[in-house]
Amino acid sequence: MNGLERLRQATRRDRVFQFLVDADELVPDTSHGVILYIEDLSVSFDGFKAIDNLNLYIRDGELRCIIGPNGAGKTTLMDIITGKTRPDRGSVYFGQNIDLLHFSEPEIAQIGIGRKFQKPTVFEQHTVFENLELAMAGNKRVWPTLFARLGAEQVERIDAILEQAGLIELKSSPAALLSHGQKQWLEIAMLVVQEPRLLLVDEPVAGMTHQEMDKTAELLNSLAGEHSVVVVEHDMDFVRSIAREVTVLHQGTVLAEGSMDEVQADPVVQQVYLGV
Ligand code: ADP
Ligand code: MG
Repeated sequence: MNGLERLRQATRRDRVFQFLVDADELVPDTSHGVILYIEDLSVSFDGFKAIDNLNLYIRDGELRCIIGPNGAGKTTLMDIITGKTRPDRGSVYFGQNIDLLHFSEPEIAQIGIGRKFQKPTVFEQHTVFENLELAMAGNKRVWPTLFARLGAEQVERIDAILEQAGLIELKSSPAALLSHGQKQWLEIAMLVVQEPRLLLVDEPVAGMTHQEMDKTAELLNSLAGEHSVVVVEHDMDFVRSIAREVTVLHQGTVLAEGSMDEVQADPVVQQVYLGV
């Protein structure tokens, strides 16, 4: 790009910010109370519409559950938000100012969208505390240099997050010794320590005991407010226990939205999803 073109780009009001600033310094403008705007979104794979004209708004600080049958497009939606998959059409904005389609997957993570995949990926040979230390080091915003010593403030912050995740007593245990559920919480804690504004969590309770599910619901609820949280989940009991707003996805589009009671009472939802 030559100097004149650069200047032209920079003087376009809505792009100035994104063009001149590092991804990790971008701040979403949520003055309208919305953290994520998804509009008219479509993507096809070999002619099959995985996402079909989807519209979705996530409010700042809310905990939203997205449910839907297998193949509804839930994971594809997360792939688009995080920059892993590019849509054919539509827009994805983080706040009203940041056009996520202009950014790469690592940049989107830096901008403040954390994603937890289904399978936990913790550093088994390191202690629970060290796992959070390593996660924190990976984020420029939180801790500028990998080899700097942890300050008292950072240690305190890690401890607070471990407390919140119910792992404080296991702080010095190697992660390898944790149960499946505890590893899931550790991975959520590793995301939280990077201070994402939006947290995307794909099927967090698969393989968990009922008791672990309850603790997971509690943890995700406690994260909402300070963070916005989007949970994709199959398990109806779990979604009900979270007791927040639910979006039902079907064939790549939004079928219904409301409380769990409202969507379960919807005849269209019953027909396509609950098989009633
Ligand atoms: P869900 O997570 O709701 O089960 P997915 O988003 O994984 O659904 O998949 C939606 C549809 O898109 C499925 O039919 C799936 O086979 C298809 N799909 C997803 N990703 C790809 C891809 N990279 N290539 C081809 N088809 C895909
Ligand atoms: Mg999926």
